Amino acid sequence: MSSDPVAAAPQRSFVLLKPDAVRRGLVGAILSRFESRGLKIVAMDLRYVDGDLADQHYAEHVERDFYPPLRTFVTSGPSVAVLLEGDQVIEVVRTMNGATDARKAAPGTIRGDWALSNRENLVHGSDSAESAAREIALWFPDFA
Ligand code: GDP
Ligand code: MG
Repeated sequence: MSSDPVAAAPQRSFVLLKPDAVRRGLVGAILSRFESRGLKIVAMDLRYVDGDLADQHYAEHVERDFYPPLRTFVTSGPSVAVLLEGDQVIEVVRTMNGATDARKAAPGTIRGDWALSNRENLVHGSDSAESAAREIALWFPDFA
């Protein structure tokens, strides 16, 4: 047994490839980045997100002024729900996704290379261990 305090500690994150990713044919390219990085796909599913699921997923945002158009967007077509696993996967995915406002996202990130919108920014990634647990219970209850 290793006692290395920074040894790999597998963690899981919920990732959503939003309708713009599916519409634009970027699902394979985005998944390829995560796989190439060494992250493991544990579960994956094409989902038609309805308003109720959108409201639950974005519970922290439902009162925000940007939420109604966000809700319209995330329910506008199929998305791909992905459960990823890896060392520090939550932080690694957030870094790979880039800044929320894709217009400000760094080159080399998914949003910084392929998006130019504050709303249609291709990907969602859990932002904390608590969010990941909540989102995994919502999207992949068999894995919660
Ligand atoms: P994320 O965790 O980086 O996805 O960002 P948030 O949790 O803050 O917001 C959720 C999603 O709402 C973002 O990914 C965007 O699609 C959308 N969004 C957030 N903030 C804004 C905003 O100020 N304007 C618009 N139009 N959309 C926003
Ligand atoms: Mg968020």
